[in-house]
Amino acid sequence: MDLFEYQARDLFAKHDVPVLAGEVIDTPEAARAATERLGGKSVVKAQVKVGGRGKAGGVKLAGTADEAVEHATNILGMDIKGHTVHKVMIAETAPEIVEEYYVSFLLDRANRTFLSIASVEGGMEIEEVAATRPEAVAKTPIDANVGVTPEVARQIVEAANFPAEVADKVENVLVTLWKTFIEEDALLVEVNPLAKVASGDVIALDGKVSLDENAEFRQPEHEALQDKDAANPLEAAAKEKNLNYVKLDGEVGIIGNGAGLVMSTLDVVAYAGEAHGGVKPANFLDIGGGASAAVMANGLEIILGDPDVKSVFVNVFGGITACDEVANGIVQALQLLADKGEEVTKPLVVRLDGNNAELGRKILSDANHPLVQRVDTMDGAADKAAELAAAK
Ligand code: GDP
Ligand code: MN
Repeated sequence: MDLFEYQARDLFAKHDVPVLAGEVIDTPEAARAATERLGGKSVVKAQVKVGGRGKAGGVKLAGTADEAVEHATNILGMDIKGHTVHKVMIAETAPEIVEEYYVSFLLDRANRTFLSIASVEGGMEIEEVAATRPEAVAKTPIDANVGVTPEVARQIVEAANFPAEVADKVENVLVTLWKTFIEEDALLVEVNPLAKVASGDVIALDGKVSLDENAEFRQPEHEALQDKDAANPLEAAAKEKNLNYVKLDGEVGIIGNGAGLVMSTLDVVAYAGEAHGGVKPANFLDIGGGASAAVMANGLEIILGDPDVKSVFVNVFGGITACDEVANGIVQALQLLADKGEEVTKPLVVRLDGNNAELGRKILSDANHPLVQRVDTMDGAADKAAELAAAK
């Protein structure tokens, strides 16, 4: 999960990375009070999860509260690389910037290690520097068992040729930034620019943090950092029900048991859809191994609630949970939905195979639900579901 700059700033502050004061607002008028609280001057910064805000006109200095309101008016609603600005951060202005550096820590998957990246040529041209003069960017692998001690920080400072007069301060930033990285379970912490200001202080002026969602269970405070506005409402509802669901842009709703089976179902449906005007899968949904009727009902409810869905393909391979249980689950799920007043109006194609398939198929046939069709091969079922979606 990527964070907004203001959220990164808050995490930095929590772990003693030097930052400037700032608060986030979402109306132009609020920029006035915020700027007054900062002593009458501020930087108005667009909060979007994409880089290059400065170049796009999303970072403006305001010398007065009126000017801050004017900048906030212009920046709110602005489009930056396809991201609409809904919030701006009103931040304390840095004292005169003398130099701009770059530092980051990240998980380097390819080399199975953590990596430090540092450069004394940070700022808005860092991509250009990295591409044209890679020697100006120091990459140092970090041993996870050692972490970034003051000694390791010193090595990074030397590798990147930081000037002697900022060495201690940059080391402190590296140690506290690493603490942020580890204690918050981040995959990336980046500071660009890390600014040397006229007083000689070194301050993180912009931050980018990406958190590891697999560590959510031990980071209860991170839930509040989610951008609820940007989340797809179906995905949010699925998450609340603990379903493994991803919205896609097609018309055939998909439910299966097991991530691998669901992935291949997506492929088979996309392929079958080519013969039916190019219909595609509408989602990924894995209801997992021991899918009860309640889980099936939850899954069906999410999929049937998607206005893009024209037909549903339930693809189950019975294993530990046998097909008869799944078939009962489907029948009960349809009943549960009917009882809730959410009568199913879209056709369902069900393919059952594997453990107790015969029994499962019989249960579906006996239930004789008008909208449920059984097709016993995966390709045949995918073709039927695509055909039904195209006919709608
Ligand atoms: P980005 O373009 O999205 O990376 O946004 P940044 O937050 O990095 O801002 C872009 C540039 O604006 C920085 O490289 C700085 O040169 C400048 N900047 C940011 N904050 C301040 C500030 O408080 N004072 C001054 N004078 N410049 C700032
Ligand atoms: Mn930046």
